[in-house]
Amino acid sequence: MAQAGMSERIYNFSAGPAVLPLPVLEQAQREMLSLPGVGMSVMEISHRSKTFDEIIGRAESGVRELLRVPDNYHILFLQGGASLQFSMLPMNLLPAEGSADYIITGSWGKKALKEAKRCGKVNVAANMADGGFKRIPDDEEINLDPGASYLHITTNETIEGVQWKREPDAGSVPLIADTSSDILSHPLPVEKYALIYAGAQKNIGPSGVTLVILREDLLEHISADQHTMLDYRTQVENKSLYNTPNTWGIYIVNLVCQWLQDKGGLEGMSRENEAKAKLLYDAIDATDFYRGHADVESRSLMNVTFRLPSEELEKKFAAEATARGLDGLKGHRSVGGIRASIYNAFPIEGVSALVSFMKEFEKKNG
Ligand code: PMP
Repeated sequence: MAQAGMSERIYNFSAGPAVLPLPVLEQAQREMLSLPGVGMSVMEISHRSKTFDEIIGRAESGVRELLRVPDNYHILFLQGGASLQFSMLPMNLLPAEGSADYIITGSWGKKALKEAKRCGKVNVAANMADGGFKRIPDDEEINLDPGASYLHITTNETIEGVQWKREPDAGSVPLIADTSSDILSHPLPVEKYALIYAGAQKNIGPSGVTLVILREDLLEHISADQHTMLDYRTQVENKSLYNTPNTWGIYIVNLVCQWLQDKGGLEGMSRENEAKAKLLYDAIDATDFYRGHADVESRSLMNVTFRLPSEELEKKFAAEATARGLDGLKGHRSVGGIRASIYNAFPIEGVSALVSFMKEFEKKNG
């Protein structure tokens, strides 16, 4: 349970805000009172200072290098969470006379769809609700509108634990993705997307920062009368500094990017994530006591969702795990069950500890 030098830290399986890399927290702790050479906390300096300009510049280039973001894409650090993007996106890119395609693979996609409907016409190109969102649709199951203003997907559904392993073929329609819960967990072909967004609080940093990566040409389609703060053009023109951004959060994003670079970038990270998820899915598949929620080929490497024979046992499992320093395993209140979120910063030792606990728990209760 204990991690090096931090005896009171437990294994945190929370879906988000989630575990952050220990070296990042330690550096932030060291620099909390005074940034080296600055004499003030990053929270106390102007967002227009040279120091902060360097910090946000490094955060941007960190994301750009890790994801190999092409030059014709802008990188923004906004506020309001991924949830505000559910609205901001159609406000900017779904014209009154247009229509947008949405593929619904879980609870977060449903929320995105709800906001888009307020702005204009929406076509649900596929809805995987049957059976409780267990899988990603095949190409033949997707009914795209070739005239759509964009196609929206959720690359990883955090609550149900289903993840896209490919891009849908959107043709010439701009592909847009909510990547909140798997961004930076593996290399992503950014050039296949017109816009991607993500709340930071799983793999990028603390809550309160929303990463938006968007292709330059999208800006031409925004209507002139957009509200200033909700207009992507304002944010691009002002480099995310139209108003006061989450300076602390952006500072942490930069540290997380450095940590990822040290780990070998997204290729290295992806290998680790695959190994972690395999350990856990193998344990689930080895017995009928545990049943995975998602179909095998759609399983999320980030949020591993499974059931026990009864709700009582699930409650007992989560409570006993917490007592052992394995916290945050209770499934989302809307679907129940168990959910182990094993984002980038979650250590493989914690997965092994969970697997041992699962075996023991089954022996006693199976
Ligand atoms: N989309 C996905 C896939 C999510 O997992 C979450 C948060 N768990 C959200 C959107 C909402 O994010 P936020 O809380 O940043 O608005």
